[in-house]
Amino acid sequence: MTHIFPRHTAMRLPRAVSGDGCYIIDDSGKRYLDASGGAAVSCLGHSDKTITEAIKRQLDAIPFAHTGFFTSEAAEDLADLLIAHAPGDLDRVYLVSGGSEAVEAAIKLARQYHLERGEPSRARIIARRQSYHGNTIGALSAGGNMWRREPFGPLLVDMSHIAPCYAYRDQRDDESAEEYGRRVADELETEILARGPETIAAFIAEPVVGATLGAVPAVPGYFARVREICARYGVLLILDEVMCGMGRTGHLFACEADGVEPDILCIAKGLGAGYQPIGATLCSAAIYSAIETGSGLFQHGHTYLGHPAAAAAGRAVVSALVERDLVARSRDMGAKLDAALRDRFGQHPHVGDIRGRGLFLGLELVADRDSKATFDPARKLNATIKKAAFARGLICYPMGGTIDGRHGDHILLAPPFILEEAQIGELVDKLAGAIEDGLA
Ligand code: PLP
Repeated sequence: MTHIFPRHTAMRLPRAVSGDGCYIIDDSGKRYLDASGGAAVSCLGHSDKTITEAIKRQLDAIPFAHTGFFTSEAAEDLADLLIAHAPGDLDRVYLVSGGSEAVEAAIKLARQYHLERGEPSRARIIARRQSYHGNTIGALSAGGNMWRREPFGPLLVDMSHIAPCYAYRDQRDDESAEEYGRRVADELETEILARGPETIAAFIAEPVVGATLGAVPAVPGYFARVREICARYGVLLILDEVMCGMGRTGHLFACEADGVEPDILCIAKGLGAGYQPIGATLCSAAIYSAIETGSGLFQHGHTYLGHPAAAAAGRAVVSALVERDLVARSRDMGAKLDAALRDRFGQHPHVGDIRGRGLFLGLELVADRDSKATFDPARKLNATIKKAAFARGLICYPMGGTIDGRHGDHILLAPPFILEEAQIGELVDKLAGAIEDGLA
């Protein structure tokens, strides 16, 4: 008996005791192939000594110094490294402890930017349905995962939600991908005009939708159009790359593939690769300068922001990604995994769509391929598959069904970038077995 408070109170989970590359080993010695990196976290696998040694060195030097008094070399180096590779005119890095915090900081930063510039009426955030931005109240308000939002509805902030870019379900037969992208992007303009541009602070979106849709990138042209609309109305563009960033999609920053440059960008998960909790909110020089030349204080902060040990981990992770060319590996191994999935599941009667970028891939499960009818959410197919996969020694991330009652169950795959070709076979075999167990 333990006094630990598990998220699912009825679950009895095995203890993880060690890591070996792409595998986690439990206290019975069972090995699990981590095909989802937890939740798109463990991009370097579970036993990378260069990262643990870097953290140890930092802990031996100085474990913590409050950012109200000090900066640290690790935090400064990490910020410089990120900016050296960041898209557009992103110029400053605000270090936090995770994804929800990065999104909270982004929302507040957008609001404060407009205040500093003398536009206090700009407070509204526009987000998208079927998105996930975190579990804190602000981030949850931006998110469009109805199941996660429902219990806390009365506490949430009023934000606008427009359609996601989800071609598999929403592109009409009589329109091209480009026409579809333009049609959904234009919902942003419609909402801005309906509310009044002078009331809108920012638009937030995931370049590749992770947890709620299962690795869904936008169609070509969608984000370019979004960027154009934001610029026209003075609305800041916040891209949430907490899940899809840090090389996961085969680009260090996912938005590079869409050719779009945000005003604010959120990262986390792969930034610490699971070795430390860390996230970051990057912003443009213009946003930083509005605060620097205005009040001089970003009115936000948590005790552990810029934690030296976490920053040391982030610095070591980004260095590893760059120096070991692991982003290209994510792209290449992603293409191989994608091909193996298409080979195995391309004609599967209950796999409606296979999608994603790099080592960020998703399978959407349907009751019927032609009609795209979903399975009854009460069946909890995703939970059954997750359990079956775990029993077979495979960690994957199935979700869906209950999110909005409209789209199907999906399985998200986000293995470490060090995945070997030989492990792709094991992954696909175990996944196929788990899907059959779930459907049985
Ligand atoms: N944003 C996105 C896109 C996410 O996928 C997540 C987590 O899954 C978050 C934000 C929240 O991150 P965290 O769980 O680290 O708070």
